Amino acid sequence: MKILVAVKRAIDYNVKARPKSDGSGVELANVKMSMNPFDEIAVEEAIRIQEAGIAAEIVAVSVGPKQCQETLRTAMAMGADRGILVETDEEVQPLAVAKILKALVEKEAPGIILLGKQAIDDDSNQTGQMLAALLKWGQATFACGVEFAGEELKVNREVDGGTQSISVKLPAIITVDLRLNEPRYVKLPNIMKAKKKQLDIFSPAELEVDITPRLKLIKAEEPPVRVGGVTVADVDELVDKLRNEAKVI
Ligand code: AMP
Repeated sequence: MKILVAVKRAIDYNVKARPKSDGSGVELANVKMSMNPFDEIAVEEAIRIQEAGIAAEIVAVSVGPKQCQETLRTAMAMGADRGILVETDEEVQPLAVAKILKALVEKEAPGIILLGKQAIDDDSNQTGQMLAALLKWGQATFACGVEFAGEELKVNREVDGGTQSISVKLPAIITVDLRLNEPRYVKLPNIMKAKKKQLDIFSPAELEVDITPRLKLIKAEEPPVRVGGVTVADVDELVDKLRNEAKVI
């Protein structure tokens, strides 16, 4: 079985995202970019499935500019066998990524597609779900535990207030949550080895996918600055403040 794992180049999680001065989006100029952290967890899970002898090959896929090759090399240094870059300098929204992944699924015929639950730059949380709909495959989102049971996967999902266990038939889409695993550190010799691994490049047009944006970003702005709290002496003062200052009761 082959695993396809989607890795997005996103703002590094240590960098505080800031809107551009004209509010037209998030500032990306001179900002450190890395693999989306949830995608590292997806790559790690793919490797663990391969190490357990269940998968034969891991193919990492990234959609975006030329620099996404670095993201793919990182995935390959972690353990992915080869990479596919679908190269474009245009903005690519989740539906377009899902359509591109669908086109690659038709070429590669994987049994499992692993994605992050969300990209930390746009926080869309859409790509895996859209891909499942386009392929008409089962999906297990927010996975925090994955176990194989014959032709099915048993997946624990993070839900509000606890976890939910589901089983999903293969082929399937899994989007991974934070607690699924801890990604391994990349070792220097593996970085060198990754440079020699196969990396194929396609354009969206070669895959016959129209990536025209469907959503328009109207404005990106900083959240309102939080004002400091106050300590109240007793319940009466609290009620008074809520009623007369905050006017919420
Ligand atoms: P999103 O729906 O944008 O929050 O992204 C969810 C997941 O879809 C990410 O964690 C990635 O696994 C995958 N994904 C989204 N955009 C891309 C991209 N441009 N290239 C590769 N994978 C992507």
